Amino acid sequence: MKYIGAHVSAAGGVFNAPLNAAEIGATAFALFTKNQKQWKSSPLSEDVIAKFQQNCQQCHFNPEQILPHDSYLINLGHPETDKLEKSRQAFVDELHRCQQLGLIYLNFHPGSHLKQLDESACLSRIAESINLALQQTRGVTAVIENTAGQGSNLGYRFEQLAQIIDQVDDKTRVGVCLDTCHTFVSGYDLRGATACEDTFAEFETVVGFHYLKGMHLNDSKTPYASRVDRHAPLGAGEIGWDCFKYILADARFDGIPLILETTDTDLWPQEISELKRLAGLAA
Ligand SMILES: [Zn+2]
Ligand SMILES: [Zn+2]
Repeated sequence: MKYIGAHVSAAGGVFNAPLNAAEIGATAFALFTKNQKQWKSSPLSEDVIAKFQQNCQQCHFNPEQILPHDSYLINLGHPETDKLEKSRQAFVDELHRCQQLGLIYLNFHPGSHLKQLDESACLSRIAESINLALQQTRGVTAVIENTAGQGSNLGYRFEQLAQIIDQVDDKTRVGVCLDTCHTFVSGYDLRGATACEDTFAEFETVVGFHYLKGMHLNDSKTPYASRVDRHAPLGAGEIGWDCFKYILADARFDGIPLILETTDTDLWPQEISELKRLAGLAA
């Protein structure tokens, strides 16, 4: 079964996210469980948690269909000790919020070396951050997103994702989310079935599909291997529909949230219904 949705708004409270997702015909969704641009936010109250779970149940969303995303401020590979510590604390709080909501994934960007650490040292630092966070929480899998490789962001090569996973102690609680835009602009071609076949075969060899816990389905405004992250609506970018056709027809992408982060939210109902059609599901 394919779970298809978008990164929806949680404005007014996390309990609104499942309602917003249901409204656009989604069978999966992503959300921020706190303001993604702030370090601190108030803890989730019992009432908010209960309402979230009630709305998820009412709209038929199981934890497997939900991919929470952490704050963009967090850098688990930060070269400076005090800032690293701040990120690590915030990451634990994010995992804890997911745990409280009964969710099983937390999607995050691995981190940046800010030109102050070499790549390997930064990847080890990220793995250590994940280890520390997993020790302090339970039930939630840390889902590393591949990046576009802008600036000093790591995680743009499958080998870098593998290098992090290798150093995570509890392999049952670490996973990967592949963003099609990031994959493409970081130098893995997705234009057409043959290119997809090769790229995902490489992913299988280097990382392994058993680690795949979610996908971000985005087209790209910027060219192949540009390492510039600009999402576009499906079919309106450099990747094209063939890639999304390929993914929706391939059983390796079953049972995980497939999430749109495309730029025109008005198009989401249409994009979701087209993806459902490609998956052989009734719209
Ligand atoms: Zn993404
Ligand atoms: Zn992106």
